[in-house]
Amino acid sequence: MFDVIISGAGPSGSKCAEILAKAGYKIALIEKDTSWRKPCGGGVHHRVFNLYPQLKKLNIPKIRGIVMHSADYHKLEYTLPGDRYGTVMDRLELDNLMRNIAIDSGANLFDNNFSFDFIIKDQKKIGIKTRSPSGIKEYHGNIIIVADGMSSKLALRSGLRSKWKSEELGIGKCAIMEGGNNLDEEFIYTYFKSYKGYGWIFPLGNKRFNIGITTFYEDNLKYNLNELYNQFLRDPNIKNYVPSSDYKTIWSGSFPYPAIGVLEKNLYSDNLMLIGDVGGFVAPISGEGIHASIISGQAAAEIAIKALQEEDYSKNILKKYKSHPDIKRIIRNFKLRRSMIQFFYENKGENFNKLLKLAEKDSDFKIHVKNMFLSKSLPSKDFFAKIKNLR
Ligand SMILES: Cc1cc2nc3c(=O)[nH]c(=O)nc-3n(C[C@H](O)[C@H](O)[C@H](O)COP(=O)(O)OP(=O)(O)OC[C@H]3O[C@@H](n4cnc5c(N)ncnc54)[C@H](O)[C@@H]3O)c2cc1C
Repeated sequence: MFDVIISGAGPSGSKCAEILAKAGYKIALIEKDTSWRKPCGGGVHHRVFNLYPQLKKLNIPKIRGIVMHSADYHKLEYTLPGDRYGTVMDRLELDNLMRNIAIDSGANLFDNNFSFDFIIKDQKKIGIKTRSPSGIKEYHGNIIIVADGMSSKLALRSGLRSKWKSEELGIGKCAIMEGGNNLDEEFIYTYFKSYKGYGWIFPLGNKRFNIGITTFYEDNLKYNLNELYNQFLRDPNIKNYVPSSDYKTIWSGSFPYPAIGVLEKNLYSDNLMLIGDVGGFVAPISGEGIHASIISGQAAAEIAIKALQEEDYSKNILKKYKSHPDIKRIIRNFKLRRSMIQFFYENKGENFNKLLKLAEKDSDFKIHVKNMFLSKSLPSKDFFAKIKNLR
């Protein structure tokens, strides 16, 4: 019998397990395959370093800025304030680092276990069932935390959520490549598109880089992701940075992510909380989810500790997860981002083109744009009017 069962040892599940194990609780961290590399750009927000100071000891790129391009190739370059930096990592390395921290904190990792259903008794979820190489296994626990990403079977079985619709998703295709390139290893490069989506090149150090493209919402069905990806690789503007035509592909993959923001009405029920991608903790537009997923895992762990102390695992206690200040802040921020999508992508990305064109010419305006992307301040009505009125 475990205090908490966490299905999925990605960033959200591992952080949640780490906190609960450190607090002295008995944790089962269930993972389908620790050798699976999640398809991802691997861009890690600078705030993740506060949650994982262990990252500072690794020999990984220090990303201090971004070079952003609009669909018509206007360019905006900025650096992070102060001495802040983010990084780019191979997801297999990042996920295993986070899992190992959870294990070192006392969590029990059960690898090669595919969660597929709940164990129900007297209409209560008292555990989960997994498929493992040695057959079906059962794990019993007081609280179940679902952290097993986009293809979660438990989220669907929970009744909290139905299957994702295509227009609620982003879909990305990416690769880790190796070879001579002209990337500044302290910057990441993004390319907004005339359709809802963007391309990226993120340097990984040692001549490696992660390159990819994403579409989202209704444009998932209007465009063929493989064709867009191939076009992106051939794009003359990309060739400035990655000029060769025969890079070694170390790995490649495609995967969806939730693009509509946090599913705030569906985050918990009796004995149950949904965290990370399962609960929609991915930033609309940018598709960044590592940081928000970790924060959701942290918040769920704090609420689980309260429930365990009070021996009350009902939704009356677990609802505090949704109103946790960190979760409320993420919900607000994602709603704001979502509201800007229509504006930026209107008329084949025209407003985003104008945004970067204005920022190229006007240094004051550039500061507002930079602050908006750093989520430091909300743009004013004048800001949007200036973009709209640009001829
Ligand atoms: C193409 C693409 C590019 C992205 N790029 C970035 C980026 O550059 N930066 C960024 O911040 N975010 C990025 N994201 C988003 C980011 O990958 C996710 O938001 C983040 O990984 C979510 O963490 P998580 O722990 O919730 O889920 P996941 O990372 O998906 O982890 C879920 C875990 O559960 C396991 N699992 C799945 N099913 C089961 C099961 N049935 N039973 C047991 N275990 C199971 C999986 O193996 C995995 O270990 C990208 C996403 C995509 C698709």
